[in-house]
Formats: sequence, C-alpha cells, structure tokens
Amino acid sequence: MEVPTLRLEAGETVARSTMPLLPLLSLLLLPAVLLASAPPSAPPSAMGAQEKVCPWCKNDLVALKTAGLVSHGPFIFGVATSDKVAERLGDVRVYFLESAHLRIASMLGEYTVPDKEAKKIRAELKELKAALPRIDDRTRRLDPWLRLHIAALRAEKQYAAFLDLLGKKESDFPDGETVYDPGSGKPYMGEGPYLGEKDKYDLYLAETLATYQDLLVQHYGVTTKKPQRWNSIKRGAMFFGLWSKEENLNSDTAIHACLAHNLGHNYLDGYRYYAYDLPVWLTEGFGHWWQRAIDIEYVNYCNIEGTNPLKQTGAGWQADTRRLVMRDRAAPLAELTRKNSFAELDQNDHLVVWSKVDFLIGTDRKKFAAFIDRLKGRTDTEGFTLSRGLPEAQREALKEIYGWSYPEFEEAWKAHVLATYATQ
Ligand SMILES: [Zn+2]
Ligand SMILES: [Zn+2]
Repeated sequence: MEVPTLRLEAGETVARSTMPLLPLLSLLLLPAVLLASAPPSAPPSAMGAQEKVCPWCKNDLVALKTAGLVSHGPFIFGVATSDKVAERLGDVRVYFLESAHLRIASMLGEYTVPDKEAKKIRAELKELKAALPRIDDRTRRLDPWLRLHIAALRAEKQYAAFLDLLGKKESDFPDGETVYDPGSGKPYMGEGPYLGEKDKYDLYLAETLATYQDLLVQHYGVTTKKPQRWNSIKRGAMFFGLWSKEENLNSDTAIHACLAHNLGHNYLDGYRYYAYDLPVWLTEGFGHWWQRAIDIEYVNYCNIEGTNPLKQTGAGWQADTRRLVMRDRAAPLAELTRKNSFAELDQNDHLVVWSKVDFLIGTDRKKFAAFIDRLKGRTDTEGFTLSRGLPEAQREALKEIYGWSYPEFEEAWKAHVLATYATQ
C-alpha cells in the first residue's frame, strides 16, 4: 500500500481493529445493523440525570490545566461529540475528560480497591493529589470521576514514556497546519502535533456490553465484546475502546494492562502518522511490552476472534520462551518479519515477538528509537509515504543500527534468553 500523505482528507473512518477481518464484514452489513439498533437505555430526555460536576476538580479550568488536563467536556469524540454520546446513553452515566493528548469517555463504576492493588493505586492517587488536593490518596473507594482521572493519568504517563522511549519531544511534530516540504531536508514527522496524528487519541471505557456495542455500531459499524482499535482518517485520530467486564478484564489492574497494550499500538501506529501498517511482530511485541510493564499477569492478544483460546496469563512467559529456545522452536526474526496479519501469530509467536522486542529495547533504547524511525514515517522524494520495501528496510535497519544480520541477531537473542530468563 502506498498512500499519498497529503491527500487523505477525503478518507472515511477505517477499520483497524484487533480483528482485521470482522470490521470489514460489518461495514458491509452496516445499514441493517443501524436499523436494528436502539439506544441501550432511556431516551435523551433523561439527560438531566448526568452528573456534571466532578467532585475532585470541580470542573475548574485552572485546576485542570495545572493537572495537564483540559476539561470535562463537551468535546469531539469518535465520529460525533461527547454530548451526542451522552444523549444516546440517556440515563446511563458517562463521564468525560479531555487531557493534553487524549479524550476519554468512561462509564467505569465505583470500585473498591482490593489489598493486592492498594499500593499501586495509592501511588497513582498521590500523583493526582499533587494537582488536585481534594483527592484523598488513602481512600480504597474509587468513584467514577476518580476512575476517569486515573485513566487520564495512566494514558498521559504512557504518552510521555512513549516520547521518552522514542527520544522525541512535543516540538518535534508538525503543527497540523504547515504542509510537509520534502525538499526541506528534514525528516517527515507526520501530519499533526499528536505524535504525528492530527487529533487526540480517543478512549472509550464501557461498563456494560450494551453500551459498548452500541457506541461501536453507531460510530464504526461493528459489534464485538473484545477490545477494539480504530483509525479515523478524517479526524486523524486513533480510537481505543474496551468493555470492562469482558472475561479477561477482572480487575482495575487488568483494565490498566489492557489499556497499556492497546495504547502501545495506537501511539506507535500514530507515530509519524498512520499511513501504513508496521509488521505485526513489531507492533504486537510492542503491545505486550507495554502491557507487561504494568503487570506480567495479564495478557491481551490481538487476534481474530474465534481462534483457539490462548494462554490467559503472562506470568510464565520467561520460562516458556526459554523452553522454546532450548527446543529450537522459537520462530526466527527473518520468518516473523514476513507475517502480515495478527492471525498468523500463534501462542509461541506471541511470546517470541514480545521477547525479541524486549531484547531490542533492553539492548539499547537509542538504537531501538533509531530502528523505529527507519520503519515509521517513510517517505519518497516527493513526500509520499512509503510502505513498499518494509521487509528489506527491517533487515537493513537491524544491520546498520544494531550491527546484526538476522542470524547474528538470533544468536544474541538466544544467548540473552538463556542467560537471563527464569527457568520456571
Ligand atoms: Zn475532574
Ligand atoms: Zn496487540
């Protein structure tokens, strides 16, 4: 696929989900799906039931700004607005928050923090309290507003960590107004200020399946229970949504880990503008890497729905990867770089792609940043984005940046796994 970067205005919302095939099918079925759907609960007249004032920031714009936030709405969201989303939901309470780089719609309900999560969440509340002093960092009871603020904190911290990992700062990205000049001698950094995307990243955290599926159908024409990512070309905005009661999301930490996995995808895809897909070994390995930074217990797979269930815990991944290496059953990178769809990754591949990305980052973060820069935002002399030749570009980048041929990389990676990974 070769996409002229400056000619995408006419595009429509493009499915880019964790299930590459299903959204396309669903788009074909869209008119029927829309006709059949009804709001998940009460009519718009019940809007008055929406609680508008946040007890922690009091919707005070100065306090919000100090906390790196913008407002509790209204704002543009998905293919509509926060007001439209709230209107559609009727008396189902939905809470909105716009931060520096994200727009969030959350229905996450009250949550009693169990002992296991107390330390983690207390540290997060402490961070929030620094800018919003009304917050009690010792509380074990999170209300929906607090969960919303915590979601923004997590997503923004990951945004900052992503910039740091890639060795970039906000000012490295274009303002979204100036057209890229390929003759400037400067690298193409995308189409806008949000890592290269024109607009902010959307997050939808639904509490019930009905509300989750209703928004997905209304905005993107797809129904699923699974976490979903989408790209709106028109807005230049990435979307991620989840249903918080999905079987794998059984705690606040599980939700956080899933969020981290998928924001890892969205930030990387958005980086220097989403014009083509990176190879799946790299994006999926990157998603797992962020997820495991939150908690190694939780795993999310980007895969076609309906395939054989994969292992639902990541706790044993080091030992499992080690066993694969010892039995010479780990897919070599040269083979993985030829896989183009998430469906081509099996259980063992997921471990291997995580481990290889982790190894590349751990070996030298600056080299990893340079490696990504060779693969994202590629343009030709006319300024058109270039996805052609990605397989060769990976091989060349590995050699020139890390100094490894594929076989040399394999040896170095295997030695690292055998020397450092847990045996069980
Ligand atoms: Zn607030
Ligand atoms: Zn993934």
